[in-house]
Amino acid sequence: TDSVTIIRGALDFQDKVAEDAITPLDKVFMISNDIILDRKTLNEIYLCGYSRIPIYDGSQNNIKGVLLAKSLILYNPNEALPLKKFSTNPILTVEASTSLVDILNSFQEGKCHMALVVKESNPIGIITLEDILEELIQEEIYDE
Ligand code: ADP
Repeated sequence: TDSVTIIRGALDFQDKVAEDAITPLDKVFMISNDIILDRKTLNEIYLCGYSRIPIYDGSQNNIKGVLLAKSLILYNPNEALPLKKFSTNPILTVEASTSLVDILNSFQEGKCHMALVVKESNPIGIITLEDILEELIQEEIYDE
């Protein structure tokens, strides 16, 4: 990245909308709200590597909230508790046509740095702060 790329990215940024920066729904690692948090599930969550995991009810088109992986750090999987016993965070929902500037402003207000993107009432993907920053700097950010 250099300042020219950033300035160019910033100029294009105001024309970009949610749909331009989503991770499509079929690529999203999510879990059902009726799952038991045993060692196998915990291991899957660990291996997926994501810090926020959407939770769905019944079908993957019905995302209800977000589980923060860090909330499981002190959890003992031998307890095998149902996920429903855990507190999940609400997920922000935005239209596919919402500008990235507006989503960035919502993320800045705190709460969750992930939004569900819907088009004609159907979920099409998720977007996070990182996806938005990548549009701004016009480059991939590689996760640690
Ligand atoms: P993390 O903090 O989990 O690394 P980021 O918010 O930094 O996630 O996002 C990194 C990339 O991974 C983004 O492109 C984002 O859309 C995607 N992403 C985040 N969470 C998930 C998930 N649960 N399943 C699939 N992709 C995800």
